Amino acid sequence: MHHIFSIASPRNLLAFGGLASLWAMEQCRPFKASADRRPARWARNLFLTLSNGLIVNVFLSGLIVAYVVWLRENGVGLLNLTGCGPRTNVLLSFLFFDFITYLWHRAYHEVPALWRLHQVHHSDLDLDVTSASRFHLLEILLSTVFRTAMLTLWGPSVEAVVIFEAGLLAFAQIQHSNLKLPGLWDARLRRLFVTPDMHRVHHSQVRSHTNSNYSTVFSFWDRWMRTYNVEGIDQVKLVIGLPEFPRREDVTLKKILLMPFLSARGGAPPVEAPSEAAS
Ligand SMILES: [Zn+2]
Repeated sequence: MHHIFSIASPRNLLAFGGLASLWAMEQCRPFKASADRRPARWARNLFLTLSNGLIVNVFLSGLIVAYVVWLRENGVGLLNLTGCGPRTNVLLSFLFFDFITYLWHRAYHEVPALWRLHQVHHSDLDLDVTSASRFHLLEILLSTVFRTAMLTLWGPSVEAVVIFEAGLLAFAQIQHSNLKLPGLWDARLRRLFVTPDMHRVHHSQVRSHTNSNYSTVFSFWDRWMRTYNVEGIDQVKLVIGLPEFPRREDVTLKKILLMPFLSARGGAPPVEAPSEAAS
């Protein structure tokens, strides 16, 4: 129980502190007006955030920390075998898990059965900080199984896991935010990090946009894997969401909870949008 509260409390503070402060900033300096009804959409996204958070933050996070401790005590995993120093452990683990998250995110787009789950996240008709944790519970649970397998392989320290999880959460919130960054900030920041402009392209209805920009923290994974796609795209013209579910009536809470099982497209990855959407 000690481990449950040692990780759950700071993570919850970071999650809701980030959510509240970015939400307040979005109201002062929004990038674009909403397409969906804001209160209803916020209620849907916050319902998913809270229900998933209850299971993942409070229950699973504690088990994962206990598992990471067990791996260390039993010498399981690459870093536990090599016995590298604490700072190297944090740095290498951050890079490893950020790249693994890139690959896993890409798999969610390229494997039809996984896309059925991930399309819930992409069906949001607007993008703001509440989109950051709008995931189907099955996607969260599946990602946890995958991450546990990677922890077993890699064997990071507890500190490395906590720092990566905090960074992942903070970057997910910032890149989904509907924030208009001043001047050239976005262009400068995305030389190294994933920014709101970069991730907004990933949520566009156009297929070539959706199937690009998979990185979460560092933008160089996309550049390296040739999936970086932001320069020259008119951010104001981007239509957010999925062409299969373009209306508010398509993305009610009931419909997004059932979406992985009832997808009209049978789970195929996103289709190419009409040519006018790409213009
Ligand atoms: Zn995605």
